[in-house]
Formats: sequence, C-alpha cells, structure tokens
Amino acid sequence: MARHLITSAIPYINGIKHLGNLVGSQLPADLYARYQRGRGNEVLFLCATDEHGTPAELAATKAGKPVAEYCAEMHDVQAKIAEGFRLSFDHFGRSSSAQNRELTQHFAGVLADRGLIREVSETQMYSPEDGRYLPDRYIEGTCPNCGFDSARGDQCDNCTKQLDPVDLINPHSTISGATNLEMRETKHLYLRQSEMRDELQTWIDSKADWPVLTTSIAKKWLNDGDGLQDRGITRDLDWGVPVKKGSEDWPGMEGKVFYVWFDAPIEYIACSQEWVDAGKGDDWQRWWRTDAGAEDVTYTQFMGKDNVPFHTLSFPATILGSGEPWKLVDYIKSFNYLNYEGGQFSTSRGRGVFMDQALEVLPSDYWRWWLLSHAPESSDSEFTWENFQASVNKDLADVLGNFVSRVTKFARSKFGEVVPEGGDFGAQEEALIADLSERITRYQTMMDEMEVRKSAQELRAIWAAGNEYLQSAAPWTVFKEDPERAAAIVRLSLNLIRLYAILSAPFIPDASATLKDALKLDEMSWPDDVAAALATLAPGEDFAVPENLFRKITDEEREDWQSRFSGKRD
Ligand SMILES: [Zn+2]
Repeated sequence: MARHLITSAIPYINGIKHLGNLVGSQLPADLYARYQRGRGNEVLFLCATDEHGTPAELAATKAGKPVAEYCAEMHDVQAKIAEGFRLSFDHFGRSSSAQNRELTQHFAGVLADRGLIREVSETQMYSPEDGRYLPDRYIEGTCPNCGFDSARGDQCDNCTKQLDPVDLINPHSTISGATNLEMRETKHLYLRQSEMRDELQTWIDSKADWPVLTTSIAKKWLNDGDGLQDRGITRDLDWGVPVKKGSEDWPGMEGKVFYVWFDAPIEYIACSQEWVDAGKGDDWQRWWRTDAGAEDVTYTQFMGKDNVPFHTLSFPATILGSGEPWKLVDYIKSFNYLNYEGGQFSTSRGRGVFMDQALEVLPSDYWRWWLLSHAPESSDSEFTWENFQASVNKDLADVLGNFVSRVTKFARSKFGEVVPEGGDFGAQEEALIADLSERITRYQTMMDEMEVRKSAQELRAIWAAGNEYLQSAAPWTVFKEDPERAAAIVRLSLNLIRLYAILSAPFIPDASATLKDALKLDEMSWPDDVAAALATLAPGEDFAVPENLFRKITDEEREDWQSRFSGKRD
C-alpha cells in the first residue's frame, strides 16, 4: 500500500474565498486524496487556515472584534464551507495553533544555530501615541504623485503608484489618527536564502517531472537579477508567533512576531500534530520524519501559481536549512487563474461567485464537476454561466443521470427491484468490457499524473460508453422476444452503475454516495479487473431506484444568476 501525504495551500483567514481560489488548490487536492483512497492507498490530507499578519488584524478591527476571536470564528466559517464542498481533509488546522507556534520557534532556533539567520537594522515608522510600529497598511497620507488624500503606506489606490510610507505627505496612523509619527530604528531577522541558492538549485533541477509552470517560476526567482535574496522573517506586530530561538528568548526581538510567510507553511507539519492531538491519528512523525518512517511517503502539494515561490524556495530553505530529517515535497501541482465572465473574480468588488453563495445556488457536485473539468492547468480558464449550464445539463444530467435513471426504472418495471437472473453476455458486452478496460487504464494514468481536465474527459467518456451500450443493446426492445437476454443487459447495466459510483467518487462524491445507497453496496473496491467488477452484483440482490441524480439548469435560472453575481455582494 502506497502512502500519500497531500496538502492544499492554506487559505487566508480574512473572509470567504471565491471559486477561483477553490479550484486553485483545495478542490484538486481533494480530488487526488479521494482518488488515492479509492485505489486503496494510505492518505493523510491536510489543510488549515492561514491566520497571522496585518490583513487579519485589519479585518478583525473592521468587524469590531479582537483578532483571536475573529480568527476563531472565521476558521469555523471556512471549515463549514469546506464540509459543504465535501473537502475530505483528515484535519483542517489553524496556523495560530500552539503546535505551530512551537514548531515555528523551533525552526528559527535551529536555523540560527546553523548560521542561516542574520539580524538587520532598519528604520520603520513608529507611532508613540499607538505605542507601536506601524505596518505600511496602517499608515495613510496624501499621495505625492496624484494628490489623492487616502493613499496607503505601500500603494496609492487612486494612481496605483507603489509607495514607501516616508513618501506620503502628512502621514497619519489609521489606528488612532496620530500624526506625530517618527522613523525609528528596529531590528529584524533575515533568512539567508542566498546562502542556500546552490542547494535549492540542485534540488529543483532534480525535479525533472514537475510541471513547467512550477519549475519556471522557481528558476526565475533563483536566477533573475542578483539571484535569490535573503528574506525578512519578522515583523513589528502583535498578532503572530512571538519571535523566540527555540524555547529561549531572542535578545533584541522582544515584542516582535515571525512574518506570516515564515510560519504559514510550517503549519503543514504542525497540522499533522494537531491531527494527532485531536485524537484522529496516532503518529505524525511517520508522515514527516524520514528517520521515523516517512521515507516511503509521497508528498504532493497543491497551490495557485502565486504561491509557488514560497513552496519551491522559502519553505524548502527552512526545511533543508534545518539539517533535520524532514520530508521534502515530491511534487508540486500548481494552477493558473480562473477568470469570471470576461474579467477577474474580485473579492473587494464582490464580483463572481463565492464559496458560500455557490452552495446556496446548487449542491456541491455541480460545482465540483464544472470546476475540475475546466481546471486552469495549462493556461488561465474562464467561468461563464452559459458554459456552466451546458456542462451540467449535458455531462451530469443527460449522460450520467439519464443512464442511471433509465436503467434502474426499466429494471424495476420488468424485473422488480432485484438484479435479474438469466441470460449470457455476448459480443456486445465483451466489446464494452474491452473498451472500458482501456478507458479506465487511461483514467488512472491521468489521475496518477494529476491531469485534472484530462481525467474528467476520460470519466465522461466512460459514462458515455454506458449510454452507447444501452442504446445499442436496447433491452426494452429485446425484452419482448428474449426476456433472458434483456435480463443479462440489465444486470450488466446495474453493475455499470456500481462501476460509475466508484470511478466518479473523487469528482462527485455525493452522487457516488447516492448510487452506493441505491445499490446497497457495502464495498467500493477499485475495479482493477473490469470483467470481474461488472459481475459483482449477483442475481437476486436488491436495489432501489435512486432520486434523480442531477437536475437541469434552466435558461431563466442562468440569467438570474448572471445578474445576481455581476458585482457587489450584499
Ligand atoms: Zn496617487
């Protein structure tokens, strides 16, 4: 039995994500986790919320709540939505956990001991009235470029010019409004990534099988300009992992926290500790420590392309730099962006469909199928309501749903709700089995290679093969002359439904569960031998006609949704 460690990029805590975020990491990671479990492999599938940093503080202030309380609430909201989309995490952790705090401090201590952290003095805007250093986003003033009076310390939203807080005219604190700001010297820690450039380069070069999207981004950061730069890993903030050298205080670093990008990926490991501490598992080290059983683990990460630099360079620098036997990622599957109706999804403008809204409109299988079958792999892809309607109506309702409905209803009307006996399989069935055997092998290959769209295409072809068989075998005609032959066709077709329930589960788990219940299946083992799999349901076993698996989307609904999601959410 192979062992698969699978992680999805961890979503930031401030608010509900849109469908583009979902298809860029969590959903394909879930597809792969479900597939590997379906094949009988051992899987640990982890995700978490990314909770530290200035945006969380700002969002909490806006919501009028203490930041810890805000994060706890939003974590529950995101966890509930993840359940709604049937994301089958073994654990959905939190980067603000005690486990991550301790592990982050541990890594910093070890990296410092190995000479991979240096202290740098910088000047930063300080507000005596607030008693704190102000991150760029906490400072506003007049833009020196266009005169806009609410330009932020990092950028002017009016003319888009990138700014430094010192550029602003009449800067003030957005916390207190204080204007007596001053530049003060402050010390920060930098991870000496430049020292590790050669080691990282060798490691990336050894990953010949990685997608071009992943390696091209990594190589750009390694080689462009002066090459890989050292990276600041601390901030003058309250909300975060306090800077410590292991369990010791770090002189000069009092009151500072680690930068969110240092602690967030470490949460992948901490999440597995949370999983154990929650009583869901008993040994996290055999997934993460190559000296404790993780040598045979295959570790796959899923993420959008914007997260690739941190996962190919910064996090590996932390892991490799520690000199400790941690499991490194084996494969990084990255995604381009999903666009929305000729433009971009926009969280700030509420443009596009957000995860909570999607589930209010239709059950998760509809979305899962469309998103995965149109995943932005080789290039960006685009969501349109026309395409969504067409895919759902054709693939799910006409091809799969219709097959299940025709077979089960015909079977019930002629033979009752039991698998009929009698009749033999002939040339048509042999041809079908040969065709399906080839197609399922291709489907497995595509799934093993994480070719998401191609896997969906193959699955759809497998559904269509059943329809074609049923159409040409025509049991409703045959029944009049040769009821035994019709019984054989129906028996095979009921077994095909079982086969579809198993093969489709990674894409549409709810429909798969409905079919499993209808056929009263107690085991769903992967069809390694198609002929044997299609003889699993034996004559005399009972079944029920399931509810309609998928309904069609009407033109009226489509138009309604189109206008509802065109801008500004409530
Ligand atoms: Zn401006």
